[in-house]
Amino acid sequence: MVFHTQRRREQVSEHQDWFPVPESATNHTYCSAADYDRLYAESITDPDAFWAKQADRIDWFTPPTKIANWCYDPVSIKWYEDGVLNLCHNAVDRHVAAGRGDAVAFIFEPDDPAKDARHVSYAQLQGEVIRMANALKQLGVAKGDRVTIYMPMCAEGAVAMLACARIGAVHSVVFGGFSPEAIAGRIEDCASRFVICADSAVRGGKSVPLKANIDAALEKVGGVDAVLVVQHTGEAVAMHEGRDHWFHDMQVSGECPCEPMNSEDPLFILYTSGSTGKPKGVLHTVGGYSVWTAATFHYVFDYRPGEVFFCSADIGWVTGHSYVVYGPLQNGGTSLIFEGIPSYPDSGRFWDIIDRHQVNIFYTAPTALRALMRDGDGPVKARSRQSLRLLGTVGEPINPEAWRWYHATVGEGKLPIVDTWWQTETGGVMITTLPGAHGMKPGSAGRPFFGIRPQLVDAEGAVLADEQVGGATSGNLCITHSWPGQARTVYGDHDRFVQTYFSTYKGKYFTGDGCRRDEDGYWWITGRVDDVINVSGHRMGTAEVESALVLHDKVAEAAVVGFPHDIKGQGIYCYVTLNMGEEPSDELHAELRQQVRIEIGPIASPDHIHFTTALPKTRSGKIMRRILRKIAENDFAALGDTSTLADPSVVDALIEGRQNR
Ligand code: ATP
Ligand code: MG
Repeated sequence: MVFHTQRRREQVSEHQDWFPVPESATNHTYCSAADYDRLYAESITDPDAFWAKQADRIDWFTPPTKIANWCYDPVSIKWYEDGVLNLCHNAVDRHVAAGRGDAVAFIFEPDDPAKDARHVSYAQLQGEVIRMANALKQLGVAKGDRVTIYMPMCAEGAVAMLACARIGAVHSVVFGGFSPEAIAGRIEDCASRFVICADSAVRGGKSVPLKANIDAALEKVGGVDAVLVVQHTGEAVAMHEGRDHWFHDMQVSGECPCEPMNSEDPLFILYTSGSTGKPKGVLHTVGGYSVWTAATFHYVFDYRPGEVFFCSADIGWVTGHSYVVYGPLQNGGTSLIFEGIPSYPDSGRFWDIIDRHQVNIFYTAPTALRALMRDGDGPVKARSRQSLRLLGTVGEPINPEAWRWYHATVGEGKLPIVDTWWQTETGGVMITTLPGAHGMKPGSAGRPFFGIRPQLVDAEGAVLADEQVGGATSGNLCITHSWPGQARTVYGDHDRFVQTYFSTYKGKYFTGDGCRRDEDGYWWITGRVDDVINVSGHRMGTAEVESALVLHDKVAEAAVVGFPHDIKGQGIYCYVTLNMGEEPSDELHAELRQQVRIEIGPIASPDHIHFTTALPKTRSGKIMRRILRKIAENDFAALGDTSTLADPSVVDALIEGRQNR
């Protein structure tokens, strides 16, 4: 039976599927399979030579002579340490200087589809960034100061980031959906004395009072000297004399050179989404992050000048930092910034945007795809999507079912998909297929990016070699060697950095994720290690059980957690949301149990199936299993920090549902 379970499990996660590199991608790539093998080998055998060459992608005021200098015990990470550069120069100025000032840097698509989109050229962007950089200087911002940015998804949000990078201020972008409480905590944590915000934002037709939220946050936390307010919607807002300044009213000069930054000077702080606890202020530095985002964007998306790249992530998340702003701009690309949400005014909005702006590369999250799948193929099929060349996902393991839909329906079965595994802490993509080099397996992120050495270890830290489990093995995912885009510390708390990432397995970076590697050298993220369930001694990733549940036609989304069980040690508790128009029933309950038994085996039989209309998600759309675990355990008092939750009322409904069981 154990053998049978194992075999079934492999089927559900892999579906025995293999999608070869599509022809379109073979003819359009910087990196063929042979190139990948050669470059990867070079990056491992002589990392310094490899990363010295990659550093040539960008301009340096003083080129680095030292490349890597790191140690994981004790922890100290430096890249290009004697190099001097400025990220804003590389993202903006050098393109203008090279005569590409008329190229489009950003396409801004407003929330309201009836409103005109705005195209911002590199030359215009340079002008705006200089204006904002000078405004910040006038307000007293100096190199090294932390600046909190609380902006809508609009060009000015990116301008604010670039203006900080230009003058050497350290930005901390706080997602525009966060509450005053959450903003105050983040301002306090990094002792930020300056804030940039907009009057308000609109998302899905609803107004978000950004300035009023900042006012409320500043009632809770002291120390902020100045707030720079960008007029975005024109909504009336209160201005505090002496503290608040309208950006458009400030008289500033049109000159502002890019501050020469040492490679290891801090670039930004970004608080992780908090699906596993109190948010951490992850700190990235200038040189390594610049090279890493420039190189990963180039290879992973095979970007060609003139193409339109659309990443749907908010600039409040690392994906927005690396692949809405810094990766595309350093490559002289055109990046689309979308203010709204995928379901407004209807669930065809993404595809409308793709047609309207002839988007070539589309990068989104599994959570968005699952939500859109709920409405069926109609809204997708009603749009052409002919401009698309490449699709991507990030943020969570993608269920094979959602992958297939993305591939068959959105991509018409013709486009490559990159399933990119990475983290706030990694700065950019770490594991992915490269579109022209690797075939795809639905649910697998694929192969390590250049220089990345993943390793699987068991709970005691013993390295799991391929041979140990008949050519395929699973365990906890570590990275054994540093890479340029690695976070350097947790702001103000280096001990927490060391504790969180380098103490579980001494001498290695521990990702916190569980993972499996198959016989073809493909890596399969199985979810967070904390989410692994142990049923009668059988360990299984929540992603596997969830994938089995969503295979059912009526199921939209599933979240699975363990709960204490007298006999089995842990039982399996499944939260399930249904597709539009479907209702829970005893029959469906039985079908779902049966489905999991068939797909994985009787060992994975759900003990509880809890139908719900919504799941608790972080603002970036990730399911918060930590909270679901507590609810399953009937431990309602210990839900922990819920400040990063998108809709806290979901929790009350779930508790009520649990109590009525
Ligand atoms: P916190 O660390 O505060 O709990 P978080 O981990 O959700 O928040 P991020 O850094 O945005 O914050 O997310 C990184 C995590 O997202 C990864 O560790 C992994 O669990 C998951 N993830 C991201 N991309 C993928 C992917 N392509 N496949 C599987 N999992 C992914
Ligand atoms: Mg994390």
